[in-house]
Amino acid sequence: MYETQARFICVVCGAENIIDVDLSGGLDQEYVEDCDVCCAPNKIHIHFDDKYFKAEVSSDFDE
Ligand SMILES: [Zn+2]
Repeated sequence: MYETQARFICVVCGAENIIDVDLSGGLDQEYVEDCDVCCAPNKIHIHFDDKYFKAEVSSDFDE
C-alpha cells in the first residue's frame, strides 16, 4: 500500500500543509492548493518517488 499523503511548505507563511493525493490524477500532477493557515494559493508539483509522494512548491505564478 502506498502512502497517499504529501506535504508542502506554504511559500507565504511557511506553514506545513498535508494534502491527500488524488490517485486518479496520476503519479505526476501539478495544481494549485490553498494553504490551510493563510489561504494563499500554492502552486504545487506532485510526483511519486519510490514509496512516497513528494510535493514541490513553485513560487512563480506566470500563468
Ligand atoms: Zn500559508
